[in-house]
This record gives sequence, C-alpha cells and structure tokens, in this order.
Amino acid sequence: MAEGRLNIRDQDELVSHVVDDALAGRGGTVFTLNLDHLVKLRDEPRFRAAYQRASYVSADGAPVVTMAKGLGEPVDRVTGADLVLPLSRAAAASGVPIYLFGTADAVRDKAAARLMKEIPGLAIAGSESPPFGFDPEGEAARVAAERIAASGARICFVALGAPKQEYFANLAVCRVPGVMFICVGAALDFIAGETRRAPVVWQKAGFEWAWRLLQEPRRLVRRYTRSLLYFFNYRLRGADDRMLRVDRRRNGDGRQTGWFA
Ligand code: UDP
Repeated sequence: MAEGRLNIRDQDELVSHVVDDALAGRGGTVFTLNLDHLVKLRDEPRFRAAYQRASYVSADGAPVVTMAKGLGEPVDRVTGADLVLPLSRAAAASGVPIYLFGTADAVRDKAAARLMKEIPGLAIAGSESPPFGFDPEGEAARVAAERIAASGARICFVALGAPKQEYFANLAVCRVPGVMFICVGAALDFIAGETRRAPVVWQKAGFEWAWRLLQEPRRLVRRYTRSLLYFFNYRLRGADDRMLRVDRRRNGDGRQTGWFA
C-alpha cells in the first residue's frame, strides 16, 4: 500500500469535500504531498502512519504532479497556500466556522484580519500560535485539539510546517470528532504579507521550490538536496509504487471521493 496516496484531482473537488464533511460533522485531515513529504514517508514510520489515515491528499509540488502524470493520472497542483482563501470563502458561504492554528501571534492576527476583510461573513471561532518547542503529539497538543473542537470551529487550518502539522492534525482528528484539520504550511505567512510567495510565473514553471530556496537557503538547502535526489532517483528507476500512488478507489477512512464516483 502506497503511503503518498493522492486522492484529489483539483482544488474545487477538495474544497467541496471539506465543506461537505464539515457540515456533516465528519472530522478528517487534509495533507498536500510534496517531494519532502515523499522523503519523510520513506524514512519516518510516524509520518507514514499519519499519511495512511489522511482523508484527502493533493499534489502540492510540481514534481509530484509530474510523477502522478507518469502513473497515468493527471492531477492539478493544490497547495496549502492556495487553499486557505477559497476554502474560507466556501466555509463562510456555508456558515462553517474556522480556526487558525500555528505560525506566530502577530502574523496570525494579520492573516485573520485580512481574511475577515476579504470574506464578509467569515466566522473565525478562535486562533492560537503554539510556542515553537510545541510537541505536536504531547499533552499540550491534546488540550489544544479539545480547545479547537470546543470553539465550534469545523475547519482548522494548521500552519506548523512539516512534519509537525501532519503529526498534530493526525493526533487531533483521533482525539476530537467533527473537525477537518487542513495542513497549510506557510499559508498564513503569505496571507499576512510576512513572507513573499514565488511570483506566479515561477509557480507555473514549477520553480516555486527554487524561489523558497533563495529566500531561506540555510534552512532549506539540505531538504531540497534530498528532495532532488529522490526525484532523480525516481525518474531513473521508474515509478516507486511503494511511496506514491494515485488512489482510484477510496480516501483514508473509506469514504468514497467524488473522483471515483
Ligand atoms: N511554524 C510554527 N511552529 C513551529 C514550526 C513552524 O508555527 O514549531 C510555522 C512557521 O512560522 C511557518 C510554517 O510553520 O508559518 C512553516 O511553513 P513552511 O511551509 O515553511 O513549512 P515547511 O515547508 O517546513 O513544511
């Protein structure tokens, strides 16, 4: 069974599944798969376990889109950064309250203010930024999950970076019912205007990673070297079916997705 199990074809499909689930009181997790995740899936059993339970997995990186195409399944790129605005709009239209969890207090407040300004009627049931040493599977994480559920939020954006956000989302969905936890990386920093996202031409050309590397070379050089090696190895040896699969049947907890209907 592949761990990086893509089951989302495009953004509209994902937004509609998440809102439907939130309205129906179904909890779940949304992960967006990139090369760094594939490396972590290969190397870290806990990350694999979180992915195995994911409700929805989209292709976050251009290389993952290429790999899926190679498996005969075209998928659109759907990143965490691209998801927050459309999903918040759909949540507001359906009366679903959201929660912001992660990044720094000041950044989160700015992002919240911008969301409220751009999306009339959006209900932000709560928001918090855990301290940077936060253990995403510890007692503080359990208490945070309970706080999120008690706030009335049904969609929670988790902006802690990988693998922290996937660990937290996986713990939280097991701990509390009825909340969709969406892992969005640096999305709130982009919305707040704290970090500049790659220009659209870079994104479209599949070079968003290079932009990020230029912005944060120290933090990212090791990660991107491993990711590029993974990608070249994959291309040389052919599809590594153990790590990446486009799942035509079901998502993580057995619910059918629209794609397969
Ligand atoms: N972050 C956080 N707590 C942590 C580590 C990271 O809130 O302990 C936030 C950080 O401020 C940024 C986001 O997580 O907003 C990292 O997003 P990014 O997409 O860079 O994550 P990665 O690429 O590392 O998965």
